[in-house]
Amino acid sequence: MPESETTTCAISGGGPAGVMLGLLLARAGVQVTVLEKHGDFLRDFRGDTVHPSTLQVLDELGLVDDLERIPHRNLTTLRMSTLTRTLVDADLQWFPSTRKYRHIAMIPQWDFLTLLVEHARRYPAFRLLMNAETLGPIEHGGAIRGLRYRDAHGEHDLRAVLTVAADGRRSDLRRAAGMIPVDFGAPMDVLWLRISRRPDDEGNGLTGHIGKGEMAVAIDRGDYWQIAFLIPKGTYQRIREQGLEEFRPRLARLLPFLADRVDEIDDWGTVAFLSVGVNRLSRWDRPGLLAIGDAAHTMSPIGGVGINLAVQDAVATANLLAEPLHRAQADPDRFRKTFNPRLVQRVQRRRTIPTAGTQYVQLLAQRKLVGRVLGGKEPQLPAILSGERGRRLMSQILMRIMMYGILPEHVRTPDRAGVVSPSPAVHEPTT
Ligand SMILES: Cc1cc2nc3c(=O)[nH]c(=O)nc-3n(C[C@H](O)[C@H](O)[C@H](O)COP(=O)(O)OP(=O)(O)OC[C@H]3O[C@@H](n4cnc5c(N)ncnc54)[C@H](O)[C@@H]3O)c2cc1C
Repeated sequence: MPESETTTCAISGGGPAGVMLGLLLARAGVQVTVLEKHGDFLRDFRGDTVHPSTLQVLDELGLVDDLERIPHRNLTTLRMSTLTRTLVDADLQWFPSTRKYRHIAMIPQWDFLTLLVEHARRYPAFRLLMNAETLGPIEHGGAIRGLRYRDAHGEHDLRAVLTVAADGRRSDLRRAAGMIPVDFGAPMDVLWLRISRRPDDEGNGLTGHIGKGEMAVAIDRGDYWQIAFLIPKGTYQRIREQGLEEFRPRLARLLPFLADRVDEIDDWGTVAFLSVGVNRLSRWDRPGLLAIGDAAHTMSPIGGVGINLAVQDAVATANLLAEPLHRAQADPDRFRKTFNPRLVQRVQRRRTIPTAGTQYVQLLAQRKLVGRVLGGKEPQLPAILSGERGRRLMSQILMRIMMYGILPEHVRTPDRAGVVSPSPAVHEPTT
């Protein structure tokens, strides 16, 4: 029989959404267990784009100085051009200096997560289990009352007042709970790769390059360029079969400033494949369960918003549910009752407009720009982009949406350092 444990909030998934939620709840004195199936956070080419909306949240948590100690690159400019003309030339410094953060911090995701975990561990209510894989929900009386997981010691039941699916775009918990997202489709997949950057290389920031039937984004990471090479959906296998001998000249044609270095791509093992998907759950909750981050809505890579929306979901969830969970924690009957579904539903109500609004902009860009370019057609851009003033206005509106977020969240939960009520009943006998 599986060993049984209890917590107030069980979070499946130690990505940006799960770890940030774990930190905020533990900080507010809510007993929380985060489960991560991997043994570390070391995954290359994940969301590294820490936008001003996330920097603001870190600031409110007093973590910006620690973040600054992590070696990273700050980006302020975004450009996009075809081989003959500039379509977007935008600078985050255009925003008034009353905004404290006017840059994107390119922080490796494992450093970002490690920073959050180190901070969370100061709170006794925080528990992170690595190498712990969620197997499915514990269901009883029509509600989800925790989850089952497996680690090196075997299988366990973790009973909880609220269970959160923060286990990413392929969420096991979401599937097991019968929650199916609505798929909006994407015309492209992405190949991520890196090519060295020399001190005398021209250009910095983030630049989009549009060629004939091809498109790429180059991100200045200091000593290397991080490249996102866009390919028509479903063509990765064919490109691999054609071999690197055919792929490298395509890279060199589109990014001529790197033509003398494309030989650095000498093995497909150095190229990471991202199958792009855009989807959203029509309902983010079931009794006792809430999905957030990629598990609730997978974003297109356009704008690099995925990690930032995951963090915003976590902040909104903590703002809305930390106090009710803290109160529930004191109730001896808490594992027999279903946590108020109406409270849980508030999270989706709060986050639907930012999520759907951002996805709307991404889908428009996918249809009018990416899909057409990869299909060998001219992009269909609004007439306003043809003049300098119009281009600047459009760039500012888009950057406002992508960098600062729609309805940005702020940390409103208390810091109850060291206060946990009641003391956690770990390894209670199964009832
Ligand atoms: C190759 C790639 C490049 C990307 N680039 C960018 C970018 O530049 N900018 C950007 O903003 N976003 C980017 N994204 C998207 C971004 O990484 C996600 O939107 C963001 O990480 C979502 O956070 P999350 O916490 O919701 O989910 P995730 O980061 O996916 O975290 C989910 C976690 O759950 C764990 N997990 C899964 N199943 C289980 C289970 N059964 N039990 C326990 N744990 C489990 C996973 O191991 C993972 O650590 C990229 C994604 C990929 C794949």
